[in-house]
Amino acid sequence: MDYPLVSIIVPAFNENESLEELCSRIKSVFDELNRPFELIIVDDGSTDGSFEKLESLASNYPNLTVLRHYKNHGKSLALMQGFDEAKGEFAITIDADLQDPPEEIPKLLQELEKGYEFVNGRRLDRKDEFKKRFISKVFNLIISLIFNLKIKDVNCGYKAFTKKVYKWLDLRGDLHRLIPVIINHKGFKCSEVEVNHQKRKFGKSKYKLIRYRGLLDIIALSTATTTQIRPFHFFCEVAFFFFVLACITLVFFITLGEGLSVVSKILFCFSLAWLMGISTFLPFWGYFLEINASYHQGREWRKNLIEKKIDSDLKTDH
Ligand code: UDP
Ligand code: MG
Repeated sequence: MDYPLVSIIVPAFNENESLEELCSRIKSVFDELNRPFELIIVDDGSTDGSFEKLESLASNYPNLTVLRHYKNHGKSLALMQGFDEAKGEFAITIDADLQDPPEEIPKLLQELEKGYEFVNGRRLDRKDEFKKRFISKVFNLIISLIFNLKIKDVNCGYKAFTKKVYKWLDLRGDLHRLIPVIINHKGFKCSEVEVNHQKRKFGKSKYKLIRYRGLLDIIALSTATTTQIRPFHFFCEVAFFFFVLACITLVFFITLGEGLSVVSKILFCFSLAWLMGISTFLPFWGYFLEINASYHQGREWRKNLIEKKIDSDLKTDH
């Protein structure tokens, strides 16, 4: 049986000690499956000799491609370099630190072969410290509430894509943390499978515990996704919410007015002014985005919304 090519994409930033084991374990997995694969490792500007290690490994692994950033640009751009380079019908991303055991690759492939277009790994028994797991849980909860996403472990490094999906994906900044949100919003068929997780064997995490930028990304993406089609409606609804809050504040102020201290009165007035200001400003902002949308929601944009087209050959000429 002819199996389609699988591209394994690995972003690596200062992961020198893991790379040899990573390559050998990935090769063993594919030898056992007897399927073709290419391995693309993107060195994201390492300074620990990772690139020199990869150069020496390339002579032992003929299907290894190594790309190197001039300097560190972050995981999202490293992944994008891999996606641009990849030729596989399927692509799987794995972290370089061996926290995602390569032996789980077959599980993700099987799920893609069931017809899913995107498969997310879910680390059930996560081997990170408690603080990291806790922050991740809060992050996942916020995301599931805002985006109504069924996927539970949004930032797992293990992810599998069909070619159509990974060639479409366009990540910037730190958007790799929200890949499932972006793909699900587009309407691709998504699934999640449980994967093993290991403690980091070498080196240390490249990310700080508090990732406030992750929250900013959620806000930016939620605004972009929800306002994409009808921004004026969206912002009028949000403005109405703030207007209701302003009315409630006013009622409280009038009811409690006499008994309030001077500081509380100032605070009430300030909140009222702020809420009224926001509820007045937002519809204008929505209107501005609506005008903007009317320019970019043209023919090309609409084409992007179509998943499939049946073009019958039985057309009759008139
Ligand atoms: N990584 C990268 N560029 C960066 C930061 C991280 O390519 O600027 C890679 C890193 O080498 C690893 C993966 O992204 O392969 C995940 O990073 P890490 O293990 O530090 O994240 P954590 O598991 O702690 O969330
Ligand atoms: Mg890691």
